[in-house]
Amino acid sequence: MAFITNCTTKGCRKEMQPYLNPLTNEVHCSECDAPIANIPVFTKNLMKTLGQVKKSAKVAFSIRCTKCKVEALPKISDTNKLVCVSCNSPLNISKIYENQVREVIKKGNQDL
Ligand SMILES: [Zn+2]
Ligand SMILES: [Zn+2]
Repeated sequence: MAFITNCTTKGCRKEMQPYLNPLTNEVHCSECDAPIANIPVFTKNLMKTLGQVKKSAKVAFSIRCTKCKVEALPKISDTNKLVCVSCNSPLNISKIYENQVREVIKKGNQDL
């Protein structure tokens, strides 16, 4: 489950999972990085809950899903596996890298 919207910028208008900039509280297009207008506060709060927040560590630990091609920081599933935030497919990650990713997910949640 992720919040998906269409970019409001001319020339882009792509359907994507936007991200929230925690410093400005602005929502940005994940395709062209332009700010998206008219995002209600409750949607921003939902994005925080979902972890759709831009953080350098999150970007660094983004993993591209082989199923849906979404590149994002994975989430931890109910069965304690790292899965794609978009389609919930299990991701193939090496053990060492997986531990780092889990740390980033935990820290990211603490920051919110
Ligand atoms: Zn865009
Ligand atoms: Zn996926």
